[in-house]
Amino acid sequence: MNDVSTVPTRKVCVLGDFAVGKTSLVERFVRNIFSERYLTTVGVKIDTKVVEIEQRSVKLVLWDLAGNGYLTTPARAYLQGAHAFLMVCDGTRRTTLTGALNLLEAARDLVGDKPAVLLVNKQDLVDSWEVDQDSLDLAREKCANLFASSAKNGANVERAFRVLGEQLI
Ligand code: GDP
Ligand code: MG
Repeated sequence: MNDVSTVPTRKVCVLGDFAVGKTSLVERFVRNIFSERYLTTVGVKIDTKVVEIEQRSVKLVLWDLAGNGYLTTPARAYLQGAHAFLMVCDGTRRTTLTGALNLLEAARDLVGDKPAVLLVNKQDLVDSWEVDQDSLDLAREKCANLFASSAKNGANVERAFRVLGEQLI
């Protein structure tokens, strides 16, 4: 592991509709915990974690923004200086996928064409998913790094953050 002081720092903004699992995914990734309880994020919550890829490290500073389907004035301010986006939607609610894609476009209009990963979350509930294969294929055209994830069982969480990290090293 590198000396922490020399590790480059990259700002990642986590975006998506209300209750899709943004905070839960960050909690799973940073602390390896999950809670069924729903606590609305107020404003922004910041966590950091160092990711190591082939002996190179990058410190991800994760900005978990209070979730809405549109960019609020504070969200526009928090997005400044973002190096990448972690987009999240909820497989059990179809509209959240369109929401995430719209947000990605709005975020890129604001701060530029930064790398992004799109998580279709709540994969543990895949039997009650509303999002079908066709919409996933379409979404992949807009964001190639698309994974089905679960903050509950951890599926694809490490992987998604690694893919983000790889694009930031
Ligand atoms: P946020 O508003 O996007 O930050 O969403 P939260 O992370 O607060 O999660 C909203 C609700 O969905 C909470 O009750 C979580 O426990 C639940 N949740 C989050 N991720 C998952 C998941 O992968 N699977 C399941 N079954 N529930 C999840
Ligand atoms: Mg939240």
